[in-house]
Amino acid sequence: MDDTPLEELPAVPEVTGGRHPIYPSLSKKVDVRCDNQQGRYVVAVEDIEPGDTICAEKPYAAVLLRDMFGTHCQNCFKIVKAPFPCKKCSNVVFCSVECRESAYFHSFECPIQDLLVGSGMSINCFLAIRLLVQKPLSYFLGIKEEINTGRYKEALKARETYDPADFFRLYDLVCHSEQRTKEDFFHRVVMVVFLVKALKKTKYFEDKGTGISDTISDTEAYVGSLLMHFLEIVQFNSHEVSEFWLMGPKTLSGSKNEAMGAAIYPTLALFNHSCITGQVRYFSGNSAITKSIRFIPKGDPVPENYGQSFTSAVRSERRQYLMDRYWFECACEACLRDWPMYQHMTNAVLNFKCRKCSGPLPVNTETHMNPMLKCEKCGEQTNIMSSLKNLQNSEQTFKSATNEMENFNLEKAESLLLENLKQLESSLYPPYKDYHQTQEAYMRVMLTKGGNYRVKQPKSEE
Ligand SMILES: [Zn+2]
Ligand SMILES: [Zn+2]
Ligand SMILES: [Zn+2]
Ligand SMILES: [Zn+2]
Repeated sequence: MDDTPLEELPAVPEVTGGRHPIYPSLSKKVDVRCDNQQGRYVVAVEDIEPGDTICAEKPYAAVLLRDMFGTHCQNCFKIVKAPFPCKKCSNVVFCSVECRESAYFHSFECPIQDLLVGSGMSINCFLAIRLLVQKPLSYFLGIKEEINTGRYKEALKARETYDPADFFRLYDLVCHSEQRTKEDFFHRVVMVVFLVKALKKTKYFEDKGTGISDTISDTEAYVGSLLMHFLEIVQFNSHEVSEFWLMGPKTLSGSKNEAMGAAIYPTLALFNHSCITGQVRYFSGNSAITKSIRFIPKGDPVPENYGQSFTSAVRSERRQYLMDRYWFECACEACLRDWPMYQHMTNAVLNFKCRKCSGPLPVNTETHMNPMLKCEKCGEQTNIMSSLKNLQNSEQTFKSATNEMENFNLEKAESLLLENLKQLESSLYPPYKDYHQTQEAYMRVMLTKGGNYRVKQPKSEE
């Protein structure tokens, strides 16, 4: 396979408008709110333009998919050109001596790697183990009192910033303990017993464990309770980490975004979901970066997407997935109004934008003749002639953008697509095909900014 990994991972961009004073991973243009219905969520405190960098964050913990162990650095996820192996096993590689030395966790995972892989456990279970073994047992014993009494919450209130590397922030992420069933509890107990037993084969418990004996020490029981909680946390808060593949040099044709692992980003985890994607997410190594893909007015929630977009799945399917996986019924605008999927969108009815309240002004494009439209919501009259002209220009802009994409002039394509999004947004209210097509193209171009992209040869040539 002819891999062409990048020498260095791409730089992680600065968030737009400067960093938030409390949430250093977020742009100042957003803030975090909390209410009983939605929990914590992110809102715009200034108008957000398409292309704004909203969040840039290093993971609290990140694990590679098993298939990547031989090609990617365990620690930073970079594709490794000249591998530095583990001194004790041939399971994993590192990109440098520094990464090997910072991978404290591997000294405990090393002797039980085969056992864990052989058990067939999910990547989220690996992530739960990693949350534990990336810190020494002495650390967890030092905070046992605060964890067991819940007093860590008071400690958090006294913190001035939301540091994504802070264990208490991680521990405080949503896990819906109160809604869990006995069955769910039982499954996790079985997993925890297995994990604690596996850890007993390592030096993790130092002299506070009971070794291979079947009895459990207090310390082992405490570690088990931490793992119980970590399994709950990863269920609701883990993100897939992906990398972008080109299928040939200097072409986007056939390119794809593929999973390489899973990670916890304590700030990124605060965004709520909407089926109307608000941001594109890409990665430099295992650092996550999100960029806005649409205009979001001040005061509106800034959503992430939990893998369910209205353009590619019907409402019932999306809601079922979100309910099963994340335990909520989606009430985004696409779900409330049952917006059509991309393939079913037509231009038979276009929703022009009210010039006063930006609300939709539906027009049947076959029969409608009058350029003046009255808004049902605010009563304002809007002349749609300029919007119609704008739409004609926007078609040309999109054509130019796709040309640039075909020629692999990605910087030019990016700015044209952003211009195109603004043209479309000033005229029409979603959903409509052209708009979502431009968003898709913009997301594709953004993904190429992620780290690790390389040319993948067709399978037959490997
Ligand atoms: Zn590395
Ligand atoms: Zn090893
Ligand atoms: Zn929805
Ligand atoms: Zn209006």
